[in-house]
Amino acid sequence: MFTNGLTRRALARDLGAFAAAFALGGEALYAQRRGVRGRNPNDLVLLNANENPEGPPQVSIDAMSRILARTGRYHDEDMEQLSADLARGEGLQPEQVLVGCGSSEILHCAVDAFVSPGRPLITSSPSYELPVDMASAQGHPVVKLAMTQDYGADVRKMVEAADRAKGGLIYVVNPNNPTASITPKADIAWLCSNLPVNTVALVDEAYIHFSKSPQLASAIPFVKQNKNVLVTRTFSKIYGMAGLRVGHGFAPAELINKMAVFRNNTISLTGVFAAKAAYAASASLVPERLAKYERIRADLLQWLDGHRIGFIPPHANFVMIDVKRNVRGVIGEMLDRGVAVGRPFPPLDNMLRVTIGSDADMAAFKREFAKVMKV
Ligand code: PLP
Repeated sequence: MFTNGLTRRALARDLGAFAAAFALGGEALYAQRRGVRGRNPNDLVLLNANENPEGPPQVSIDAMSRILARTGRYHDEDMEQLSADLARGEGLQPEQVLVGCGSSEILHCAVDAFVSPGRPLITSSPSYELPVDMASAQGHPVVKLAMTQDYGADVRKMVEAADRAKGGLIYVVNPNNPTASITPKADIAWLCSNLPVNTVALVDEAYIHFSKSPQLASAIPFVKQNKNVLVTRTFSKIYGMAGLRVGHGFAPAELINKMAVFRNNTISLTGVFAAKAAYAASASLVPERLAKYERIRADLLQWLDGHRIGFIPPHANFVMIDVKRNVRGVIGEMLDRGVAVGRPFPPLDNMLRVTIGSDADMAAFKREFAKVMKV
């Protein structure tokens, strides 16, 4: 039942745009799902796509400016340099790195390489939909499993599902999108050490920089142990470069080789230099940005607590808020008030995903959300 701001006509328009975007394919589909309903994004407070309002760091902007004049040439050596930098930074070998057009491209490659009619994609519900959409579009089986009570991936059920199918791609997003919850490190360790035959664990760490929880740990050590583990990371989130499209995967060379053939192309030279510069500065850049996020996130959580509004404790640059009614109406009302918030994430139909933006963004969010929630 759609009420208030989200009229039938708006819904029809949304669905039309959605259908057109699906014909275009993955990235356009996700852009449409941002759900700004034909509004000019420049007129909105954008808290709908887990972007970072800080944008790229100055070192990356400078590096891109310096390289612009060289973009007349192909740049294989520069790509290799980026892989080498990333490998060195994580204590891996360059052949254990795959750079892609955002981590989305690595997710595509993983589905292409490791999911088939006999090997399902095994994921949590709700979680990031891109691999599900890719596997479904290819007609491959998808197993969606409920999360644990604390919104972690139910790794034991995932392994059981892979065991039953005699193989598969197990997808764990940690911290998870949209719940911003984490799968405890003991569960990740158990998963990576108990993979059935023909099974790859894909641990998507797009948001790992946003939490210092002692329960959260990267799965990269299991790549070093040569387990069938692929870890994806991105420059879109803490590094603030979503529009530059740079992401990467870490995995044993054998898995990288199986995925690499499915890549579309290489990323741009500007993206390579922006990522290299940001990664070189990460030791100071990441903690600085995290500290800022922690402050703004804590302020929002305190405000929600003060208004007795529930939420899932977040470990990412977004939070799932319990709006105690169907979220579709709330999304529409917020958009009418100039604030774009996250799309619906069934089966959590009463939960609203809100990206943590700047201080000014969150002030606007609180002002309008208070009116919508009548608090
Ligand atoms: N993985 C998760 C969990 C995401 O939420 C996103 C984007 O929001 C991506 C991957 C894709 O990001 P990108 O392709 O920009 O690296």
